[in-house]
Amino acid sequence: PQLASLTPADIEHFLSFLPASQVQASLAPGSTAQADLDGYNTDWMGKYVGRSRCVLRPRTTDQVSSIMRHCYARRLGVVPQGGNTGLVGGGVPTGSDEVIINLGLMNQIRAFNASSGVLTADAGCVLQTLNTFLTSKGHVMPLDLGAKGSCQIGGNVSTNAGGLRMVRYGSLHANVLGLEVVMPDGRVLRGLRGLRKDNTGYHLHHLFVGAEGTLGVVTGVSLLTPPLSPAVNLALLRLPDYAAVLSVVGTVRAKLGEILSAVEYFDETAWAVVNGDGAAGAEVERQVFGADTVPPGVNLLIETSGSVREHDEEKLTALLEELLDGPHVLTGSLAQDETQLGRMWDLREGIAEACGKAGKVYKYDVSVPIQEWQNVLSTLRQRAAERSEGLIERVVGFGHIGDGNLHINVVCGRYDKAIEQLLEPFMFELVESKGGSISAEHGLGVQKAKYILYSKSPLELELMRKVKAAFDPRGIMNPGKVLPAVAVGEERG
Ligand code: FAD
Repeated sequence: PQLASLTPADIEHFLSFLPASQVQASLAPGSTAQADLDGYNTDWMGKYVGRSRCVLRPRTTDQVSSIMRHCYARRLGVVPQGGNTGLVGGGVPTGSDEVIINLGLMNQIRAFNASSGVLTADAGCVLQTLNTFLTSKGHVMPLDLGAKGSCQIGGNVSTNAGGLRMVRYGSLHANVLGLEVVMPDGRVLRGLRGLRKDNTGYHLHHLFVGAEGTLGVVTGVSLLTPPLSPAVNLALLRLPDYAAVLSVVGTVRAKLGEILSAVEYFDETAWAVVNGDGAAGAEVERQVFGADTVPPGVNLLIETSGSVREHDEEKLTALLEELLDGPHVLTGSLAQDETQLGRMWDLREGIAEACGKAGKVYKYDVSVPIQEWQNVLSTLRQRAAERSEGLIERVVGFGHIGDGNLHINVVCGRYDKAIEQLLEPFMFELVESKGGSISAEHGLGVQKAKYILYSKSPLELELMRKVKAAFDPRGIMNPGKVLPAVAVGEERG
């Protein structure tokens, strides 16, 4: 749709109901320098960069509503933004005329019911802050991810973030009970009912879970939080190869059952990028595994969470003994205290950041049957070696293996069109050929929007466009994200 250009009159209007401290714009007299808006215009990877000239930071739902009413009337594009940790370019604008609505000042916990575990919070609350609050009340957030110190619950809901605890608590579709959403025309959908059961027709709030800001601005979230497990145990295993991983994951599931709370995989390339190649990585190995020499191989991190420490330790120790006696595990280590537990988690959670420090990263977050992970990685590595002329430096493999979610970080010296063309749509064709999904948890954003037909049928795309038109008839919400004007493959009919 044709969207309007932002003018100084728009900024004046925003200033009529928002304090100056909540309006940052570079196009009105006495305004902010454009460079001061760079942080809002640039994504976490430095890969997607917009040029919006106006960032608004509302404190209340009413303020969001007033902003949306104006943008709707004027047909101004709007980009909702949370912690800006998204990895597909969804949280930054594509041009210079969109208004960024950053939710960071909407950060109040509205209510918590300790007996039901229902938490109601502003969308701008940071995930880690919510988890700290809940821990003090004997509960825990049903999701956890490496970006927890910055990402916001509204952003988590809008991307349907998966992360490390999904194997235990399920996706946000299972845990979000209701949402408060400001619709594109400014009306407020007040759906914070907090009921576990409510079958009164269509479950509209699910449409906003994973909508990536294309249907409305989420301002409040009501979600179910599980009780805190008093006993958390973590084991790190070194395995000779991926075939062993497949065997061990099956055993772990069968033996740990209901206390299993995370199963994470990372290969030797991931170990090297976090801990350093050669001697540095080997030294960390000696420390973490508590052995003089640690054989090379791939890694599994296994976490259990339960209510009776002795029971869980007994189960996990018996499993580890069995595995260490067998052919599939070379060595292993069980965290002895909180410090060791944190250190082991850092090895896994630090991979994305370490890749970012090693170079510019093309990220592929895909769902593929775990039997195919090794094939996908080796096919990609072969292509990189044969055809990238050295531009691709590393292909790092890791992921939430308990959920079949493989992450591939392709690390290069620079972002380059030639590399992108080598990787895309090749990666998506490969994933489609394995019956997978081109986005397991990060969403489509701007990176994968045009490739949507690799994971959705033409009918699904048609229905999604109809939903978009019904919710956002003027097409102002997060333009250019999720739904492409023309998808790759669409022209073929
Ligand atoms: P943003 O990046 O600001 O926005 C993401 C999208 O949501 C955008 O399309 C934006 O328009 C929309 N949006 C944000 N807030 C709102 C709102 N209030 N209303 C409507 N739309 C909104 N993701 C996973 O799923 N699992 C992981 O394990 C994981 N690990 C990560 C580790 C690291 C180190 C990093 C940097 C990222 C990781 N991510 C992971 C990706 C990212 O953190 C998640 O997608 C997160 O949920 C984004 O939240 P955010 O607040 O930063 O949203």
